Amino acid sequence: MCGIVGYIGRERSAQEVLMDGLRRLEYRGYDSAGVAIFDDHGLSVRRAVGKLVNLDGLLRDEPLEGRVGLGHTRWATHGRPSESNAHPHRAGSVAIVHNGIIENYREIRGELESAGREICSETDTELVAHLIDEELTHGADLLDAVRAATRRLVGSYALGVLSDRHPENIVVAKNGGSPIILGVGDGESFLASDIPAILPY
Ligand code: GLU
Repeated sequence: MCGIVGYIGRERSAQEVLMDGLRRLEYRGYDSAGVAIFDDHGLSVRRAVGKLVNLDGLLRDEPLEGRVGLGHTRWATHGRPSESNAHPHRAGSVAIVHNGIIENYREIRGELESAGREICSETDTELVAHLIDEELTHGADLLDAVRAATRRLVGSYALGVLSDRHPENIVVAKNGGSPIILGVGDGESFLASDIPAILPY
């Protein structure tokens, strides 16, 4: 279990808040990192194996300008450390970050594959993105989609969820021992898996 940071507001650069927060969680250790941010092109994802400096390099070459986003540092439990297993994971309109372990992932993976879903990573996390996207394609809003998907999950999780269809929202869910905290500001909100990430705000 490693780190999550999220930001939604009007004033600040999501990229700066997320990278600053992830740096403050570095002490927890991790094998890869990534961000998903809404910019002019929609939802963009950057991911890199290894230290945050690698992700920093990607974002320096191609910055993301948005004001809404999620960041993650991963400590692999399902699937080796690699760029394709790094979070955020995408499925259809959804991007998701996750700390924890989905215990019934084999069963869910089998069901999604039988339904024709193409799974791109070895993680338990990507499956949750597909469950949420499935609900969205059947007309649910983002909150109801996350509620319906998490009803299927056995295990411990903290989740941050974005969707191209709902650029004005981040939905957060938690169960069991995976911590998540919310910081509610004036016209902006923060989320994090641990207090130091958002303490300066
Ligand atoms: N189980 C997820 C994975 O292996 C999340 C790991 C974490 O908490 O960082 O990708």
